[in-house]
Amino acid sequence: MVWFKAKARRFDRVAKKYLLSSGFQFTDTQHFSQVPVSGSALENLPAYRPLLVLDLDETLWHGIPDPPVSEGHRFLVRPYLESFLEAVADHYDLAVWTAASEDWMRAGLRVIAFETQFDLAGRAFFLWHRDRCTWRRTEEGEGELRKPARKFRARWVCARYPAHWILVVDDLASNDLCGSGHLVRVGMWTGDQEDDELRALAAYLTAIVHEPDLRQLEKRHWRSTIPRNANALHD
Ligand SMILES: [Mg+2]
Repeated sequence: MVWFKAKARRFDRVAKKYLLSSGFQFTDTQHFSQVPVSGSALENLPAYRPLLVLDLDETLWHGIPDPPVSEGHRFLVRPYLESFLEAVADHYDLAVWTAASEDWMRAGLRVIAFETQFDLAGRAFFLWHRDRCTWRRTEEGEGELRKPARKFRARWVCARYPAHWILVVDDLASNDLCGSGHLVRVGMWTGDQEDDELRALAAYLTAIVHEPDLRQLEKRHWRSTIPRNANALHD
């Protein structure tokens, strides 16, 4: 009997680990336990959606020095940012992960909210900044900030968003997200007003949102795979 109970406990641990890594059943169990049992509880279940983690600098904005202003800098907002955020928010939950400092991140997010009327900071599942990155030494011996995909294995993240439901939009591939399947790499933006990367990206992300495993998709040449009739932006 003792042997049987030990086996059962071990099975329970293994099963929980598996469910956490795969997401679905454990998430549902957690979720149902939190839903108040009333007549229309099932109707009020929020639909789980993939998570889109956004880089900021040179992806959504470009910060430039500007000594005359009180902060000493200002943020240029990438073309189509407002319509991009509105379009992807229809299909994805949003989060932020930047290698910048928290002060810089929050200053830029205030500019975004003012210029686009889209409160990205308020709607983000998390706001990760430099403190969530790790330092790694490059071949040249210099320190470099990276965003390791293992951070998504935090229990409070993967309980809601299994790994195959997380995409990251970033202008840099030189981090651990590159080989993990999460990355949708965009061109680095430094102020070109003719840039339409976010417009194309919204169409692409909208087209793939129902794929069962977003990590397995080949995303390196994403611009060439957008359906011709895709136009996700609100005109
Ligand atoms: Mg960047």
